[in-house]
Amino acid sequence: MVPSVPDLVIPGYSHLRLDLDARDFGSRQSRLRHFQFGHARGLVPLVTRRGRAALEHSPIERCCVASEAGRPGRRTWADFCELQGLPREFTLPGFTLAARYRAVGNGVHVGVARALAASIRDAVKPLGFRLCLCGCARMVSGRRTLATDACKKRMQRRRDRPGVTGPGSVTVDLSPGTDLVTPRAAGAPGPSRFPVTELAAAYAGGSPDL
Ligand SMILES: [Zn+2]
Repeated sequence: MVPSVPDLVIPGYSHLRLDLDARDFGSRQSRLRHFQFGHARGLVPLVTRRGRAALEHSPIERCCVASEAGRPGRRTWADFCELQGLPREFTLPGFTLAARYRAVGNGVHVGVARALAASIRDAVKPLGFRLCLCGCARMVSGRRTLATDACKKRMQRRRDRPGVTGPGSVTVDLSPGTDLVTPRAAGAPGPSRFPVTELAAAYAGGSPDL
């Protein structure tokens, strides 16, 4: 989704906004995509990003976009597919050239999609660890509350946004033997907000049990 899309918060569900850059998943293009994740039991998808070390000395490629077919300096179909994590020999039979570029350009980089799918399959209870307050689902340790410089900038942008109020307080049922959490926003108009980050903060403490 595009960055300007507002947060989709569903009452009773946790809410995480994940910013995933293809460059953190083995691509030479820097391409940021935003995903929103909610879970009725507050489970957290921990997305495993790959280091950029191997890419450090390769130039950053221009972002793949849906309109690439009509742009000057269009990259070859094989190069375009490779940048999106597809095999160079990938084909889309029956599509026109423009439609092929549009389909692949609109897609999510394969490495990002795989990492996201794996994190949802293996989603965990936010127990024994803390998550970055920005909602990116990175773990933080020690006294840190934000994982990266990008997280700090993201939080700053949110603070600077006009008319933004803080999320409502969250009630968590911590009685033993239950893994159901009961969200309840206190006194806040509109849908109750139930950020997993706050839930994780409530659960914080103890040894990691991942
Ligand atoms: Zn973060």
